[in-house]
Amino acid sequence: MQSWKRCIISGSRDAKQVNRFISTAQQEIIKRDEQFAGPHFKPLPVVLAKGEGAFLWDIDNKRYYDFLAGFSTCNQGHCHPRLVKVMRDQCGKLHHVSRAFFTEPHGELGEYLTRLFGFDKFIPMNTGVEAGDLSIKLARRWGYRVKKIPKDKATVLFAKNNFWGRSIAAASASTEPLCFTDFGPFVPNFEKIPYDDLTALEEALKSNPNVCAFMMEPIQGEAGVKIPKDGYLKGVRDLCTKYNVLWIADEVQTGLGRTGRRLAVDYENQKPDILVLGKALSGGIYPVSGALSSNEITCQLDAGSHGSTFGGGPLACAVALEAVKILEEEKLAENAARLGKIVKEELEKIPKDIAGEFRGRGLLCGIQINKEFANGWDVCLRLRDNGVLSRPAHGQFLRISPPLVIKEDQLREGLEIIKNTLLNY
Ligand code: PLP
Repeated sequence: MQSWKRCIISGSRDAKQVNRFISTAQQEIIKRDEQFAGPHFKPLPVVLAKGEGAFLWDIDNKRYYDFLAGFSTCNQGHCHPRLVKVMRDQCGKLHHVSRAFFTEPHGELGEYLTRLFGFDKFIPMNTGVEAGDLSIKLARRWGYRVKKIPKDKATVLFAKNNFWGRSIAAASASTEPLCFTDFGPFVPNFEKIPYDDLTALEEALKSNPNVCAFMMEPIQGEAGVKIPKDGYLKGVRDLCTKYNVLWIADEVQTGLGRTGRRLAVDYENQKPDILVLGKALSGGIYPVSGALSSNEITCQLDAGSHGSTFGGGPLACAVALEAVKILEEEKLAENAARLGKIVKEELEKIPKDIAGEFRGRGLLCGIQINKEFANGWDVCLRLRDNGVLSRPAHGQFLRISPPLVIKEDQLREGLEIIKNTLLNY
């Protein structure tokens, strides 16, 4: 069978569930998507029309708890009034001129973020993968010009099971066949070492003097919330310093309050050389990402060596500034830390033959549904029917990552729905 035919058929394989549980209007919208959109994503069958705080509504006005928050993006909740206001105000004033000229919000955001996180410079981009890519460019430039690595020999180390997006560079760094199969040839001099393994890191650093950076997530979110052992982040910092290698911390998912601290590296009071942010940097209202670093690293770029049509535009910067101020002023990291304990307490009450393992920190958490009990995707379909939206990571890990503005009673009600759904499966 030709591959285009195969993709249309596989795109409708949930037709049975769709027909049983959602309205004809939703079915029609899903059918049109399947006909005209690419098959590279498999959305949960529900058509959403509205969001507010921790809630989403479908086009039939059924309300759901959002336990995914746009993959940890809508930390500030849906349609936060302050964010919507800034978006509207800036849009009605000046939305885009590119970086061809100066605008006030660009410097305002840079000043705020560098002071908040203790770096010298901030370079804004749009998506997480672009900010990751920029970090690698920064590290290579620094490698050649400061560390004096011979031309084209700079190597970047990555942790296995990393996820930092979908570009060719990210696919080159990936160890997940779904992400890289048949997308080669890949970017050279990307090496992958085991996560949470300081011995492997030291071996790799010792054996290759041309390593310019180690890029890793302080908690591997997409791998199913893998939390390294205590001391790993400090060990990474020490080894990178010892071998004169830059530590790139990808906090696109873990950063900005999600794990119960401003940054996940704060759990061990460590500071990377390059900090990558995205997702909640805009609260999901507009794509904004970026990399924070020192003068020594950032100033290896010269005019024309990097850029982006949209990155750093006035709309993006105004929105990002407000988004981060909301996180700080509403103490959303503290809320995530407090509520994360409740998630753990409640989910650990689920019998072990249903869900074996809880993993999480703050409101980046979830449970591993036992394969013998049920398929993770099917559990998400049942949860949808009962009023909670989430998705599995790696098939069986049920993500619980609601907006950080969620209230305790709302969280408890959502968790009750999950528990009852599983207990009456
Ligand atoms: N880095 C991490 C840790 C992520 O989890 C993701 C996305 O999930 C990315 C980078 C890529 O972000 P984007 O999809 O905005 O390119």
